[in-house]
This record gives sequence, C-alpha cells and structure tokens, in this order.
Amino acid sequence: MIEKSQKFECEKCKKEFLVIEQESALYKKKGIPMPSNCPECRREKRSSLRNEKRLFKRTCDKCSINLTSSYPKDSEFIVYCEKCYFDYVGGN
Ligand SMILES: [Zn+2]
Ligand SMILES: [Zn+2]
Repeated sequence: MIEKSQKFECEKCKKEFLVIEQESALYKKKGIPMPSNCPECRREKRSSLRNEKRLFKRTCDKCSINLTSSYPKDSEFIVYCEKCYFDYVGGN
C-alpha cells in the first residue's frame, strides 16, 4: 500500500520530513495545526518535557472524554482513556 504524504520543512533544523495522509487527517479532525518540526526535533522536545514529568490535559482519541496524559495533545501518540484502552485490548 502506498501512503500519500506531504512534505514539510522543519522550522528548527530545516530538514524535510513527511507527514502521511492518515496523520494529517487526524490533525485536521482534531483541529491541531500541522507539525512544524521533524520527528527527531519533536522527539527531542518530548524527552525534555518528560524530564519535567509533566501531565497534559487532553482528550481520549476514541470517546473524547477528558483525561490527563504524559503526552501532549499535539503528540503523534494515540491516547485512550482507561475504558477505551481495555475495549481496545479486548478486556472484560
Ligand atoms: Zn528538525
Ligand atoms: Zn475513551
């Protein structure tokens, strides 16, 4: 399967990076601006955030319930609330 993707230039290191269609659709759906940094710079930023052990208010990617997560809203990680997570892994 060929994934459609868009090219962006990283604001920080000026390197080109690709955002696949699936990912940009998710940003659009959630009203999040497209990333301005390449995955490496984003990872760097994230690990510096992790050192501060911050928690972010965000919503479940499935049912949109409010929750706190160690990943910010604009991270590329899918975050589920407890219930959706257990549904997902086939709990009950
Ligand atoms: Zn970069
Ligand atoms: Zn949920």
